[in-house]
Amino acid sequence: MYKITLIRGDGSGPDIAAAVLKVLDGTGVKIEWEEVVAGEEALKKCGTPLPDEVISSIRRNKVALKGPLTTPVGVGFRSVNVALRQKLDLYANLRPSRSYPGVKSHYRDIDLVVVRENTEGLYSGVEHRVGEDAAESIKIITRKASENIVRFAFDHAVKNKRKKVTAVHKANILKLSDGLFLEVARYVAREYPTIEFEDRIVDNMCMQLVQKPHLYDVMVMPNFYGDFISDLCAGLAGGVGLAPGANIGKEMAVFEPVHGSAPKYAGMDKVNPSAMLLSAVLMLRHLGESKAADLVESSLAAVIAEGKEVTYDLGGTARTSEMADAIIRKMKDRE
Ligand code: NAD
Repeated sequence: MYKITLIRGDGSGPDIAAAVLKVLDGTGVKIEWEEVVAGEEALKKCGTPLPDEVISSIRRNKVALKGPLTTPVGVGFRSVNVALRQKLDLYANLRPSRSYPGVKSHYRDIDLVVVRENTEGLYSGVEHRVGEDAAESIKIITRKASENIVRFAFDHAVKNKRKKVTAVHKANILKLSDGLFLEVARYVAREYPTIEFEDRIVDNMCMQLVQKPHLYDVMVMPNFYGDFISDLCAGLAGGVGLAPGANIGKEMAVFEPVHGSAPKYAGMDKVNPSAMLLSAVLMLRHLGESKAADLVESSLAAVIAEGKEVTYDLGGTARTSEMADAIIRKMKDRE
């Protein structure tokens, strides 16, 4: 029996979380969920979007499954997502993007992994106004965090039999900060002679990904670039509704979809549960439950390929809960 922290999230989060719990229940893996609230609901109930109980629950259980949380734009509280990653030192953000047959997209066989540094860079939260008419955001790059993330990317490549790691940066302009990241990446790469290594400037990387995504495999980058490039890769593979994510530290891991809380669909049982479900698949693999992970992923792929019981973003009319039921039926057929 695993004890796992659950945060259902804001907006459409509770709809997709309910669907995911139902599917996970069908795998037979015994999980006791310790449910905590964060984000808008926690702000209403406890006066803070990130109550201490959320942090202590994840520290205790070491693993959490999380729905998306709303962050107010420009004003209000700091991102709870960013705060969680920083407080728990979840330094690696793993965002795989792969194609599923039946999904309309520009390319058919996308298989990319973005490894994003998760604790510093432009998301360090060091921002201030300089008088009335100027503002400064400070980008912090350290040797330690860069070394950790690059090593994580190479270890992931070795473990998952991947061939190449590309370091993404803007060291031609940001010679000191991105220059340090690139220097560390080149240094760490020497320890992994079986994995090919190259680097790309981030703007060129965006164009290359749109035009020739098949040239790339695992990509590692500072926080800010990872935010955009992972959405770009999700778009190449068919949209954020299918993009899972994991925030991984030395001791703890939080699994969550790449997409946000899609507030306009909150409570409508409408959005695609696949991204959170595929995040749960990453969680099952992290726990060593690879049989259950394969069962969920192949059943989801079969439902998508049939295209009959899928949500609006995949061209269907199914509700979130109906898509979950279809996945559960496929799981039963396969057992
Ligand atoms: P969003 O991902 O919520 O929505 C972008 C678009 O994708 C919208 O059209 C939305 O309807 C659609 N979409 C999102 N999830 C979908 C799904 N599962 N199925 C089908 N369609 C889906 O992004 P946004 O509108 O920029 O952000 C909304 C809120 O979410 C913001 O407050 C933002 O800060 C927050 N956010 C949270 C996280 C997180 O919790 N990790 C990540 C990104 C954004």
